[in-house]
Amino acid sequence: MLQQAEKQLNDYFGYSSFRKGQEEIIESVLKGNDTLAIMPTGGGKSICYQIPALLMDGITIVISPLISLMKDQVDALTSVGIPSTYINSSLSVSELNERISEVKDGVYKILYIAPERIETQSFRTLLLSMNVSIIAVDEAHCISQWGHDFRPSYRSIKKMISDFVEKPVVIALTATATKEVTTDICQLLNISSSNTYVTGFARDNLTFNVIKGENKRDYITKYIKANRDHAGIIYAATRKEVDDLSQFLKKSGVKVGKYHAGLAEQERADQQDQFLFDQLNVMVATNAFGMGINKSNVRYVIHHNLPKNIEAYYQEAGRAGRDGEKSECTILFAGQDIQLQKFLIEQTTLSDEKKVHEYQKLQQMVDLCHTEKCIQTYIVEYFGESTPSSDCGKCMNCRDTRSKIDVTNEALMVFSCVKRMDERFGKTLVAQVLKGSKNKRISQFGFGKLSTYGLMKSKTEKQIVDFIDFLIAEGYLALTNSQFPVLVLSNKARTVIVEKQQVFKKEQVTIESIEANDELF
Ligand code: ADP
Repeated sequence: MLQQAEKQLNDYFGYSSFRKGQEEIIESVLKGNDTLAIMPTGGGKSICYQIPALLMDGITIVISPLISLMKDQVDALTSVGIPSTYINSSLSVSELNERISEVKDGVYKILYIAPERIETQSFRTLLLSMNVSIIAVDEAHCISQWGHDFRPSYRSIKKMISDFVEKPVVIALTATATKEVTTDICQLLNISSSNTYVTGFARDNLTFNVIKGENKRDYITKYIKANRDHAGIIYAATRKEVDDLSQFLKKSGVKVGKYHAGLAEQERADQQDQFLFDQLNVMVATNAFGMGINKSNVRYVIHHNLPKNIEAYYQEAGRAGRDGEKSECTILFAGQDIQLQKFLIEQTTLSDEKKVHEYQKLQQMVDLCHTEKCIQTYIVEYFGESTPSSDCGKCMNCRDTRSKIDVTNEALMVFSCVKRMDERFGKTLVAQVLKGSKNKRISQFGFGKLSTYGLMKSKTEKQIVDFIDFLIAEGYLALTNSQFPVLVLSNKARTVIVEKQQVFKKEQVTIESIEANDELF
């Protein structure tokens, strides 16, 4: 069977060998196992259902929310001689009827449909009357409400599958799934965890940077100037920010487009087309610009604001370099953006439980900005892939050649202060106590009497907050998941306090050292 698969790869697609993961996934589907494939964007997921579709009797149904991509996919398949079509809301009634009758006549091997389609009884009846060999659920994270793009209509898939007398093989595919989303997909589609394949989340051609403390507009202007021949996307958090930033760039002479859900449909389509066809160099957009943007030569993605979580970040950043060429992803970090994201979480109608979950994911995104680890390694570990054997060597942390220094004493000062404040306060107040500030809240709580009061007085409050952020990112401290998070010690801090483990940081910290750890605890 696999030999045949390789032959199809060659005959239809012109490729000589499978990419990482493809072979195992195709083999699993051909054996009749329901399978989950988690592969990065551009990793080659489509072939994982297209080749089995060719090798099995009957038709393969691909459920995809990316209506704008269906036509391209079908055109590409048709051009290599694979009979395929799509049914979605873009068709007129007569086109729809014609396609349905061709599908019934068995003209096609692959049929793309939007998830909403299976919510209609007549369409489900049609599917059940056909010889369906495979159901491919593309963008499968949309089935999970823990995912960042939950689509209620995906929930109908399970029932639809169970209605088949002869059950088709199911293959679910996604580029972004955390552990809990993976568990959800497996549960909701009855896929065994032993048939889950996670392949290479790392995007070797991408370089990740986090820039702090720069004027964002100056940075972007310089960046665009230095990359004037290249296409890039700048993501901003709100429509207003998109309007303002694109206006500003236009005035500076940049060929810039804008895209957000507040624009008329026609305008959005025009802007998107101009960007796809290289008439615009830069697209400033909210996250509405995304799923389905199939532009391969995007050389950079800049996040003007902090994204809401790592899944959303990686999917947006991952739109750079889909052609495999070197590309750069930059986050412009500013503390206020955390407040903005919290505000956006509070504005939602999510349950309290879900809000806590969103806060937790936001904190992991913030941690990514403060870690000194390889950013690519940090991301693949977040997605549950085992730690790669080597770091990327390109991201700003890998390029940071400063030597690491021992900051164990400074860390102990912070831990001690957190503990003495009963793990009931946020990082600003902890930093103020360590700084020895004289504000009202400190006297109100009597923190001026703590032995840790003023222990870091030679530092600025901002330096102390930055150091606390570092300790959070490295897992020594944790913030509770709420709108007003409180600092608590983690087990890793206890290894420093009790087992005398050392803490290292790439920075010259000039705080008067204190003699023994025992003085603090
Ligand atoms: P994804 O859906 O995972 O984002 P695609 O299925 O669109 O990715 O594949 C990305 C690109 O990689 C496509 O141009 C595809 O033809 C190409 N590709 C897929 N498999 C292989 C392979 N085995 N060898 C070479 N190119 C491949």
